[in-house]
Amino acid sequence: MWQPEIEMMPRGELNALTLKRLNETINYIFRAAPVQRGKLERAGITDKKPLKSVEELQSFPFTLKKDFHDNYPFGMFAVPKEQVLRLHGTSGTTGKPTMGGYTRRDMEMWKDLIARLASAVGVTSADTAQVSFGYGLFTGGFGLHGGLEHIGATVLPMSSGNTERQMMMMEDMGATVLICTPSYALYLSEAVRAAGIRGRLKLRVGLFGGEGCTAEMRGLIEENLGITATNNYGMCELTGPGVSGECMERDGLHFAEDHFYPEIIDPDTGKVLPEGEKGELVITTLTRECIPLIRYRTRDITRLNYEKCRCGRTHVRMSPTLGRSDDMLIIKGVNVFPSQIESVLIGMEHIGPHYLLLVRNDGRMDTLEVQVELLDDALLDRFSQLENLTGSIRSKLNSVLGLNVKVSLVAPQTIERFQGKAKRVVDLRGK
Ligand code: ZN
Repeated sequence: MWQPEIEMMPRGELNALTLKRLNETINYIFRAAPVQRGKLERAGITDKKPLKSVEELQSFPFTLKKDFHDNYPFGMFAVPKEQVLRLHGTSGTTGKPTMGGYTRRDMEMWKDLIARLASAVGVTSADTAQVSFGYGLFTGGFGLHGGLEHIGATVLPMSSGNTERQMMMMEDMGATVLICTPSYALYLSEAVRAAGIRGRLKLRVGLFGGEGCTAEMRGLIEENLGITATNNYGMCELTGPGVSGECMERDGLHFAEDHFYPEIIDPDTGKVLPEGEKGELVITTLTRECIPLIRYRTRDITRLNYEKCRCGRTHVRMSPTLGRSDDMLIIKGVNVFPSQIESVLIGMEHIGPHYLLLVRNDGRMDTLEVQVELLDDALLDRFSQLENLTGSIRSKLNSVLGLNVKVSLVAPQTIERFQGKAKRVVDLRGK
């Protein structure tokens, strides 16, 4: 729900609230979270004297994904099992998931965060929300579900997949809100266009998350479906969706600053960067009961903007993530994010938004091939036109990335579509 007294809180009050809750969190960790406490103590922080400014947090050690793995499954929990209401985990298909846990208070907070995101795009009890995120260990489905019910919206829990049925229900139930990953929204939007049913749908807004989405990709989905869509951000370790989200200005994702304290660091040196600079996002939880975290390294690359937004919200905004530092490819010494390639490809004539990045090693260095799908296979027979198109994609990519890549055009409908998060990088090194 829209909470103006919190979301529009003056900066001074917000900073005071952050400091107060930060000290409560540190205190709580010393009292109840032995693993997190051990980490602080090993870094020489044994003093429970309250911090006088949030900047003092910069001397605290980071928490890493590795800490979750080393203490799998419940080592990071600060409450006994009886107080845990829900477990979620990362959706990796191999190895052990990173587990998140929720107390009753955490669940209430989570509902509240999702209600904020949805209210920011005008969702009310009059709406019907189709949740096409996967329901399961992944936080997306159940996370959005709880928050939308909290608003009083009618929730249609479709989960992901079975696109024909998704379209039928969307039309029959009169869904006004679509919730899914941007990759699935793209797939669904193309199916809607192909079926020619857009005029019969009542869809009005989209809430996307679970992965990054370029402005170009979003524009395409909005055009296909006739909706306005916002991005939101979160991760299982920190709760799930709801950590930050866009308002209708769509000029950065507002943090829920009363619950999370963000910093931007240089990923190589670990030093905090000056305001506005691009770096790795690090988050300290301010109210989590089950898993309080100090300076969690998200691996996401972004920048923060503390200026008051045109919407009136004061909470700091992060720019849409360029991608995870884990997703970043280093090709011939150049840093490449898949999102940069996507921005170039979408909007070019004759090609669709589907692409695949193949990374190989030629024995000396890594090379990149960009496979792009044609919209019309008739082009495959027109050799000179194909050559021109390949050349023009290559030169656009070269000017954006500062790197020569191989471009190959493939027939329509040959690149795999995704019903959850997209997997666009194929690593063929060592194969
Ligand atoms: Zn705003």
